[in-house]
Amino acid sequence: MTIQLRPVLGDLPAYVPGRTVPGAIKLASNETPYPMLPHVVERVAAFLPVANRYPDSASVELTAVLAAKFGVSADRVAVGCGSVSLCTQLVQAVADAGDEVVYAWRSFEAYPILTAVSGASAVQVPLRDFTHDLPALASAITDRTKLVFVCNPNNPTGTAVRREELASFLRAVPPHVVIALDEAYREFVADTDVPDGTTLLDEHPNVIVLRTFSKAYGLAGLRVGYAIAADPALAGALRQTQVPFAVTTVAQQAALACLEPEAEAQLMARVASIVDERSRVVAELAGLGYEVPPTQANFVWFPLGDVTTAWAAACEEQKVIVRAFAGAGARVTISNREENDAFLQAAAAARSVL
Ligand SMILES: *Cc1c(COP(=O)(O)O)cnc(C)c1O
Repeated sequence: MTIQLRPVLGDLPAYVPGRTVPGAIKLASNETPYPMLPHVVERVAAFLPVANRYPDSASVELTAVLAAKFGVSADRVAVGCGSVSLCTQLVQAVADAGDEVVYAWRSFEAYPILTAVSGASAVQVPLRDFTHDLPALASAITDRTKLVFVCNPNNPTGTAVRREELASFLRAVPPHVVIALDEAYREFVADTDVPDGTTLLDEHPNVIVLRTFSKAYGLAGLRVGYAIAADPALAGALRQTQVPFAVTTVAQQAALACLEPEAEAQLMARVASIVDERSRVVAELAGLGYEVPPTQANFVWFPLGDVTTAWAAACEEQKVIVRAFAGAGARVTISNREENDAFLQAAAAARSVL
């Protein structure tokens, strides 16, 4: 007898991490180009010696600070090992085998994997104009639906849904179906008509907002994210489904250091410069003849279809690594001016494959 794995593992799509190539600029994982602030490095260093001890499994201090920041009670906040872990815990908390998890496609590539591994059934609803088709998502809900992910802005297309359309959607979804607003890129949103999910919780008891320290706060390598739920029972369920001690002490402390007012102001100034760069890059791309969907995130989507892989290879020849989704398109992270200039040069050269 050989070991027997669950059949679902046989046809699981692989999560393809952005590649790191020595000497090349990596614009493949939506990371910030800026290193951790010295203040945050110092905090991490101060807590390394106590790594012989387990972390606070409930992240009590970070939970309290986040609760105060968002003006909610601590029982509505859950901290996790990156928000992708919270996505997984959420599926585990609400969906039994055969229950349905609805999300747009193409969207965050972790959704199909974590849904399949949990044993739930995925229902994918095609994007329209690279954007969530919210009426179609609402129509896809059945008696088996337990959870809907709305990634806003959407990874990998960068598009965002606006206040009115999201409000109608939230009204259309039955109250027992959980709606997860995945706002991993919220801090990069400049369009004031794109609602902050945390302002919708009072009216919608079935909504939960997922955020992360990985993108705007620059802690991708430390793994810490959080959820704010309208209903404390849902946040409690995330605590129940957490792997014990999932969030390390240095991750908790780094997040706390980032949330101190001076550090947070510096981090948000970095975000503002990325947002400025985003406008510049999109304008320059238009000049090069590239049409890209409007983006509210720290990346741009190139809907290149069949030439995606060749285009990504052409960029790599110019020492710029982008994230190619074969047959669909490429996602390119907005970085600082220098790296963006290198990408723009690569994009100009890569026009040869189009
Ligand atoms: C990056 C990302 C996350 C979370 O990343 P973590 O590093 O796990 O916090 C969640 N959702 C989307 C859509 C993302 O792009």
